[in-house]
Amino acid sequence: MSSNGKAELQLLTKTIEEGQAKILAPSNVFYNPVQQFNRDLSVLVINTYLKHKLYGEKNLRIAKESGGFRILDALSATGLRSIRYAKELDPTNIETIDKIVANDLSEKAIEIIKRNISENHVSDKVRASHDDASLLMHDTKRSASQRFHVIDLDPFGSAAKFLDAAVSSIESSGLLMVTCTDTAVLCGNASESCFARYGSMSLRTPYCHEMGLRILLRSLEQHASRYGRFIKPLVSLSIDFYMRLFVQVFTQPAETKMAASRLAQVYHCKACHSFELLRLGKCTIKEDAPMAASNNLAVKYKFQPPDALVSSKCGMCGRTYSIGGPIWAEPMHDKTFVNQLINELGSTESNQQPNKFGTHRRLDGMLHIISEELDVPLYYETDKLTSVINMPAPPQKLFNSALLNAGYQVSATHASPGSFKTTAPGHIVWDIMCQWARENPRQKKAKIQSDGEEKAPMKRTDMKTTAGESIMDKMTSKDDKKTYDFTFHRSAEPISKKLQLLRFQTNPTANWGPKKRPRDE
Ligand code: SAH
Repeated sequence: MSSNGKAELQLLTKTIEEGQAKILAPSNVFYNPVQQFNRDLSVLVINTYLKHKLYGEKNLRIAKESGGFRILDALSATGLRSIRYAKELDPTNIETIDKIVANDLSEKAIEIIKRNISENHVSDKVRASHDDASLLMHDTKRSASQRFHVIDLDPFGSAAKFLDAAVSSIESSGLLMVTCTDTAVLCGNASESCFARYGSMSLRTPYCHEMGLRILLRSLEQHASRYGRFIKPLVSLSIDFYMRLFVQVFTQPAETKMAASRLAQVYHCKACHSFELLRLGKCTIKEDAPMAASNNLAVKYKFQPPDALVSSKCGMCGRTYSIGGPIWAEPMHDKTFVNQLINELGSTESNQQPNKFGTHRRLDGMLHIISEELDVPLYYETDKLTSVINMPAPPQKLFNSALLNAGYQVSATHASPGSFKTTAPGHIVWDIMCQWARENPRQKKAKIQSDGEEKAPMKRTDMKTTAGESIMDKMTSKDDKKTYDFTFHRSAEPISKKLQLLRFQTNPTANWGPKKRPRDE
């Protein structure tokens, strides 16, 4: 054997089995086993998208003329995703697919992609492509017989530089799937880098993971608007160390006029974790507006300031707000689609493939929480709020009951355990917290330092009171005091919890997280 052949064999040390694929993954081509959840979910999403014909009948007719639907795995590495799509999509869906393109810029990746395609016997469906992902996508734009119906962007780090090509080139009604692992940037560790990449300022807040998702959605929307297109989020997930979005992209220039009204600036109080949203614009619908020739919406868009402006000071504790965003302020998930995903997942269990997805339990748990998640933007972390007023956290189901008994809605969020979303305004949330604190006073313990001395009380800098004291004073001295009822409400505990689904997974193995870029051996 030649020395080159030996060197090659030494690199091809790992054989990986995931789903129905068995691939070779040399150490100089990227493979991260912990992203199996991402790949399992993507198989499920494409299957559901195709099964429920979300592409629209017209697209099916046009696609059939050029051989069928086209899927692009734009940053493929080992080809694993493409191979799994070819082997695991339902036979009726596979029939509608012309080709799955496994693309990568790295020569080493292309060698291994070709080998994996051949050894998995999927060369009738999967083709290797050696190109820059953006150039490849831009190249397909001009011809309906080349445009992709499904595009999967799963890079190292940020997908920002691929978004323009993806959003502008995908077929209308197409399914765009995007991973970003630059979570620290999206979650407020480097707001200025976030602005440079995505056009929005991130904030380090308890709800930063959802805010990161909403920054990505706003970025997609902005790229889409430039091409007379708009996005419809299907499901948006914050998972472990990364974010994964599934959106449909439609061409409809009139819809882009609504773009400003779908966005909001976030006002966040670092002292008490209160927040407010300020929409960038308001869409005025005029019944008598002439119908635009290109669409059937009788909408005349007029930019107007939003109804309520937000003051620069926090309405609860009086400290100065930090400002972040703009973020997508519309729903992040399409609940009909989420329920279709749950049904589709259930059906994979009941037929002859009990272990179709290695991460089945987690998929089921996460999709159920999302189906229960309220559509209101952002959330509160219960412990963070109670630490502001220095009180023990109320049991979540009692706190939820108080909100529900007062006529508001409440839910958990998949993005953070121990947090809640609610339709109640911030001052009601605090009113309930303060009532709980008055009725359940904590025995204050003196804080002892390591040298045995009692710790000095919290510094109050320029304010006479702490944020918590300001809130307690404000809520206790109110004239229109309301009493909240903490009696258990039957909707206070989510069904996903009652069913004991795997709602939040703790890291199952050591070294759980992003993997370094591969280096040549
Ligand atoms: N999606 C893969 C992991 C991809 S890792 C999986 O699920 O396993 C990112 C890949 O993107 C690397 O293989 C890298 O070579 C490739 N890449 C980086 N920049 C690229 C570009 N501009 N065009 C195409 N591929 C690129």
